[in-house]
Amino acid sequence: MSRQEFSNDNTFFVRTFGCQMNMHDSEHVAGVLTSAGYTRAASIDDCDIVIFNTCCVRQSAEDRVWGNLASLASPGRPRVVAVTGCMAERHREGIMARARAVDLVFGMDALERLPSLIVECLSGPVCDMGDVAEARIDCLPETREGGARAWVPVSHGCDNDCAYCVVPSVRGPERSRPAGEIVSEVDRLSREGVLEVVLLGQNVNSYGRDLGVHAGFAGLLEKVAAVDGISRVKFETSHPRDLSEDVLEVMASVPEVCEYLHLPVQSGSDRVLERMNRGYGRDYYMELATRSRAAVPGLTLTTDVIVGFPGETEDDFADTVDLVRRVGFDAAYIFIYSARQGTPAAEWTGDVPDAVKHQRHDELAGVQDAATALSLAGLVSTVQQVLVEGEAKKGGMVRCRTRGNRVVLVPAGTPRQAVLDVTITGSGRHALRGLVAGG
Ligand code: SAH
Ligand code: SF4
Repeated sequence: MSRQEFSNDNTFFVRTFGCQMNMHDSEHVAGVLTSAGYTRAASIDDCDIVIFNTCCVRQSAEDRVWGNLASLASPGRPRVVAVTGCMAERHREGIMARARAVDLVFGMDALERLPSLIVECLSGPVCDMGDVAEARIDCLPETREGGARAWVPVSHGCDNDCAYCVVPSVRGPERSRPAGEIVSEVDRLSREGVLEVVLLGQNVNSYGRDLGVHAGFAGLLEKVAAVDGISRVKFETSHPRDLSEDVLEVMASVPEVCEYLHLPVQSGSDRVLERMNRGYGRDYYMELATRSRAAVPGLTLTTDVIVGFPGETEDDFADTVDLVRRVGFDAAYIFIYSARQGTPAAEWTGDVPDAVKHQRHDELAGVQDAATALSLAGLVSTVQQVLVEGEAKKGGMVRCRTRGNRVVLVPAGTPRQAVLDVTITGSGRHALRGLVAGG
C-alpha cells in the first residue's frame, strides 16, 4: 500500500486489555489520533487502523491478545494493526515475529509520534518504544469515555519488587507527577463537567517519594478534593505496607473522598507473604483492615488474592481462606498464579499443579461470593449516592456506581443528573438494583 492510498481521513479502533491505567492510556491514544484528524470507528470490523493496548500481568491476558492477533491474519483485516501497552514493552519486535498481521509495535513513551509511525509502517514493519526521558503522555490530548467520571494518574511505574509481578519491568520505576500538574488537570476536568476523579497509581501511597515528598498522598488527596466542582474522589491501588494514618484521616474527614479502599492482600500466609516480598504479615494486614474500618465509617474494603503461588501448601492456603473469612471483604479479585518470565518467582520450584490451583481458586471464590452477596444484601433499603455511568448492558437499565464503587442498576428514564440519591431495592451476586430516592 502506498502513502497516497492512506490518509488521516481513516478510522481507528482501540481495543484495551487490563487495568484502569491501560483504559486511561487508551484515552490518550484516541486523543492523539483524533487530534491528528483520524475518526473513531464504531467497531473493529470497520476500522482502518486497529490498536491493541495490551496487558501481560498474567499469561491468560497475553493469550487473549495473541488469539485476537491471530484472528486478524485474514484478508479482511484492518489496514494497519498496531500493538502497544505492556506486551509491547515486554516483547517488542518479538510481537511481529510471532504475529505476522502486526505492522507497528509502539511504546506509550512514543505515543506523541503515533500519527507519523502509522504512515511509516505502511512501508514496512516498525517498532518504536520511545524514550522515557522524553515521554509526556499526561500532557497529550485525550478523548475521555467516562462521562462525569475521569481517571487521573498520580504516578507511573512501580518501585516495589513483589516476587511474582512483571509490572515494574514493563512500566519502569515509580515516577510521580508534580502535584500542581495533577491539580490543574483535575481543575480542567471539573470545568468540562467531571464530578468524580479516580486517582491511579500502582502504589498511590508512595506518591511523591521520588519527588522527595514524605507522606505526599494525603496532601494530594486534600488538594484534589478541594477543586471546585469535584464531588467524589477515589483512588487505586493502595499497598498495605504504605497506607498511612493520614490517608485514612483524610478519607474520614473530607466529604469528597469516597469511603472505598482497594487493599490487595495477595495471601493470608506469613510464609507466602514473605516469599512474595510484600513487606507485611497477616496480623499486620488484619489489624490494618480493622483500623481502616474503624477510622472510616461505612468503608467498602476490597482486595486481590493470588492462589497457587510457588510452594503454597494446604496450610498456607487454609491461612488465606481464614484471613478472607475473618476480614469479610466487600469484594475480592481472586487470581490463579501465573509464572512471568523474568520475575524471581518464575525461577522457583514448588509449582502448584494446575488442578490444585483451580480447586483453590474455586474454593476461595465460593467463600468470597457468599461474603460479597452478604455485603450487597446489607445495603438493601439504604439510600446511596450514585454517579450515573451510562446505559447498562441489560436493556432498559442505567448503570450507576456508589461511593463504595458498587454497581447499581436503575430503570432507564431516571433523571439524567450525574449524581443521584438512590434507594437500594434489591441485591444480586455482584450488583445492586435501585430506584431514585423520592422519585
Ligand atoms: N499495583 C497493584 C496492581 C498490580 S497487578 C497492586 O500492587 O496491587 C493487579 C493484581 O494482579 C495484583 O494485585 C495481583 O493480585 C495480580 N497479579 C500480579 N501478578 C500476578 C501473577 N504473576 N499471577 C497472578 N496474579 C498476579
Ligand atoms: Fe506489582 Fe507489587 Fe508493584 Fe503492585 S506493588 S505493581 S503487585 S510489584
